[in-house]
Amino acid sequence: MKKSIAIIGSGFSSLSASCYLKQYGYDVTVFEKNCTVGGRARQLIKDGFTFDIGPSWYWMPDIFEKFFNDFGKSTSDYYQLDKLSPAYKIFFKDEVITIGDTMDKICTEFERIEPGSSIPLRKFIDKAATNYDIAINKVVLKPGLSPFELVTPETATRVDQFFKTISGDVRKKFKNPKLISTLEFPVLFLGAKPSNTPSFYSFMNYADFGLGTWHPKGGMYEVIKAMKALAESLGVQIFTDSSVQKIHVDNSEAQAINVNGTIKNFDIVLSGADYHHSETLLDVKYRQYSEDYWDKKTFAPSSLLFYVGFDKKLKSIEHHNLFFDTSFETHAEEIYDTPQWPKEPLFYANFPSVTDASMAPKNCETGFFLIPIAPGIEDTNEIRAQYFDIIISRFEKLTNQSVTNNIIFKESFCVKDFIKEYNSYKGNAYGMANTLSQTAFLRPKLKSKKVKNLYFTGQLTVPGPGVPPSLISGKLVAQLIKKHH
Ligand SMILES: Cc1cc2nc3c(=O)[nH]c(=O)nc-3n(C[C@H](O)[C@H](O)[C@H](O)COP(=O)(O)OP(=O)(O)OC[C@H]3O[C@@H](n4cnc5c(N)ncnc54)[C@H](O)[C@@H]3O)c2cc1C
Repeated sequence: MKKSIAIIGSGFSSLSASCYLKQYGYDVTVFEKNCTVGGRARQLIKDGFTFDIGPSWYWMPDIFEKFFNDFGKSTSDYYQLDKLSPAYKIFFKDEVITIGDTMDKICTEFERIEPGSSIPLRKFIDKAATNYDIAINKVVLKPGLSPFELVTPETATRVDQFFKTISGDVRKKFKNPKLISTLEFPVLFLGAKPSNTPSFYSFMNYADFGLGTWHPKGGMYEVIKAMKALAESLGVQIFTDSSVQKIHVDNSEAQAINVNGTIKNFDIVLSGADYHHSETLLDVKYRQYSEDYWDKKTFAPSSLLFYVGFDKKLKSIEHHNLFFDTSFETHAEEIYDTPQWPKEPLFYANFPSVTDASMAPKNCETGFFLIPIAPGIEDTNEIRAQYFDIIISRFEKLTNQSVTNNIIFKESFCVKDFIKEYNSYKGNAYGMANTLSQTAFLRPKLKSKKVKNLYFTGQLTVPGPGVPPSLISGKLVAQLIKKHH
């Protein structure tokens, strides 16, 4: 008899795990509380406009490709991938920096801002490329069970890079504050401040400048659709509108789950829902981590998001745009050190319809705005409205156009929605940050220490936040389950 596995949630990590587990011969059933799969990467379609609700940056294309290759498939079997040119644009108060799709173009731009800077840039990115190879091929594929996993011949000679920070490194090599912010931006995906992120994580800079920014035609949700199609073709059963309310444990062994009030028996339970929430589905004695443990952890930011339909094409924008015209350091302090609404928020805006006509009606623009904020802060309609006004007027000024009268509709999403929609701890948007003290074996574990056949996956465990790490997390936990059962 095949062993049966229940998977809670249908985000990237759960869908990834479901495919590997089915391939290993288990009987796999996925239960998702929402009405569609995808978790934080769901899609909003309104009046002909298509929005990715969560992730929009397709970085590390090699990891997506490897995932599909593991099942004898390729990304091109499911979706069309285009390299964005330029990759993105950064608006500063008095200048715009454009990041091209090749190192040569990026070096030319760096030279324009700080003459001579292309030489240290090339060296920095070469080192980042080596770190990428080590991180992706040697470190990240480990299940986070022991500190010795981090000790490889390659990391042993780079120990210093785990104790220096990205922030310090970049400041030694570059003087211009705009170039410094440009090089600090990629590590924000790890969920922590650059001044709290080890230099080794410069591999994110290689992901940015070396591998480039890509767009799946139709948006990131195409990847979720592809993974769902793959999972179902392998024989995974997926149920939506299926909220798991309890994990029943007897004698330190998970026996069943309660789905919408019905008890269902399984041999193994895997949760891809937020780790903190997953443990609340257990009786207290079976939880590994206390409320105090979670409270002391550095979480990745939450976000205030707006999905906006414009009835005209906008000027001076690219597919991805960063608005760094206010202080990076002050905003980071307001997220991590003294949690509060930022006085002068940095923000990010994407307009996928600039490069992909399928994302908006003709002569219209699909706009997504994101302000990173501290998890758990007050979230009211008044605050949301106030912040929309702040960023839209800055957007109009910096791009030199008026857009307010061209808004057909706008929808927002913030702390309260993250909690309601995903059972997210304090409304975090992308999990637990990857700081030195929250890396690898120091993160919440893939396997429960208290319940023999209970496992976890996703952005709160290893390797950490982001879509590519979530794909890897699903693979790691599937391998661990195979090893133990
Ligand atoms: C606004 C935003 C922007 C982002 N931008 C990027 C980006 O550009 N690039 C990038 O790589 N990453 C980005 N990320 C991060 C990335 O989206 C996440 O790291 C990834 O999607 C997390 O996947 P997951 O499987 O860990 O969790 P989730 O996607 O959260 O999946 C967990 C699932 O569990 C379900 N669930 C919860 N409780 C229950 C229950 N009791 N019963 C049943 N189901 C339950 C939830 O509904 C959800 O579907 C972004 C995230 C956000 C929110």
